[in-house]
Amino acid sequence: MVSPLPFAQADADPSFAEMLAARPHLSLHALDGLTVEEVPLARIAAAAGTPTWVYSAGALRRRARALQAALAGAGLRASVHYAVKANGNLAVLRVLAAEGFGADVVSEGELRLARAAGIPASAIVFSGVGKTERELRLALAEDIVQINIESAEEAAMLSAVAASLGRVARVGLRVNPDVDAQTHAKITTGRSENKFGVAFEDAPALYARLAELPGLRPVGIAMHIGSQITSGMAAYRAAYARMAEMAQALMARGLPVEHLDCGGGLGIPYRDEPAPSPEALAGAIAATLGPLGLPVMLEPGRWIAGPPGLLLSSVVLQKQGAGRRFLVLDAGMNDLVRPTMYDAWHGILPVAPADCTAALSPADVVGPVCETGDTFARGRALPSLQPGALVAFLDAGAYGAVMSSTYNARPLAAEVLVDGARFAVVRERQGFEAMLAGQQTPDWLAGGGAP
Ligand SMILES: *Cc1c(COP(=O)(O)O)cnc(C)c1O
Repeated sequence: MVSPLPFAQADADPSFAEMLAARPHLSLHALDGLTVEEVPLARIAAAAGTPTWVYSAGALRRRARALQAALAGAGLRASVHYAVKANGNLAVLRVLAAEGFGADVVSEGELRLARAAGIPASAIVFSGVGKTERELRLALAEDIVQINIESAEEAAMLSAVAASLGRVARVGLRVNPDVDAQTHAKITTGRSENKFGVAFEDAPALYARLAELPGLRPVGIAMHIGSQITSGMAAYRAAYARMAEMAQALMARGLPVEHLDCGGGLGIPYRDEPAPSPEALAGAIAATLGPLGLPVMLEPGRWIAGPPGLLLSSVVLQKQGAGRRFLVLDAGMNDLVRPTMYDAWHGILPVAPADCTAALSPADVVGPVCETGDTFARGRALPSLQPGALVAFLDAGAYGAVMSSTYNARPLAAEVLVDGARFAVVRERQGFEAMLAGQQTPDWLAGGGAP
């Protein structure tokens, strides 16, 4: 096969063996092929079809415990509020709830998911720049632990809603620290030009005002500077140092500050980027906020749910183009949009044992959607794969299924949870009836045929 790409470029990617070594819930068996915990992916494909999201409960638990150990090890009093937007599957939420995680939600739907998974309202934080009155009413009715507000306008709105319900909202003020998290422009949130939070300079006056508005009780400051932060701790330290400075100033004015919400954003190594550890994050928090002695809240999403998940897909066909080999899969950008949206790199592993040891050559890995952007990888070193061969996209547990759509009238993929030697479909593949449900034909079109 001929390729215009120099092979050395694809060669620089981590090898299959290196990808496996970095992901302890995955292993390759001589007979069964690629296996999650103790369940071969081929068995899951046979039972549930493809494309299918597969989550490892063991990996979720291991990561939840590693984060909690890091926080405790740094001497922090910390509560973890998992960012439901990364992966809101109820089974995933239940695994994390059993580990003592609360939730960070950004919509009524996510609040309902968290409650349905058994996460107590006393462990739920509501974030987001555009919460509606209806959502605020529900949050107050559920009596969740904290609502993070992001503007003076929202403070006024929440005050009115709370007062009308005769309730007092515990509010965090999301402050924009104006630091550069050095991540992809679409997921940086802590620069002054971003839509999130209130400007650092405006925050103290607004915080003081919160204490005076009816129906509101300010309880702390919140910051979330961006997602997939892999550039080390500098941005976190800068943000938390500003947070410490502000908390001290507020308390010096006699204003109540009960805890500090450190947000999420901890990045993961998708390819082989050096990614910071939870110990490094805990250390940065302890160094900057520790002296205040206040409890801290964390809102990790991707770090918890990303690595435990993968997207299992089948090869539809292998197409030889003009100087390029295309592997056309049954998963598309409507399933996993991260490569299209963020130029994200995902490891791609064949599943069959023979495919894992066959000779490699560059291939463009694409989906069936009618968009050139429906490309998962270009010039990736992969074996020749026959129709029906299985492949797995690694680290797809966060911002995977939750961002999928039915574009091209493609039903939402199934989701499977693996737990040791067991597995179960935890969300069935969407049926075509379900996809059409809710569509209605107005009377005047119902006659059919031409006028
Ligand atoms: C998205 C988000 C998170 C989680 O971000 P990750 O990068 O997935 O850790 C946490 N807090 C808030 C407010 C968010 O918007």
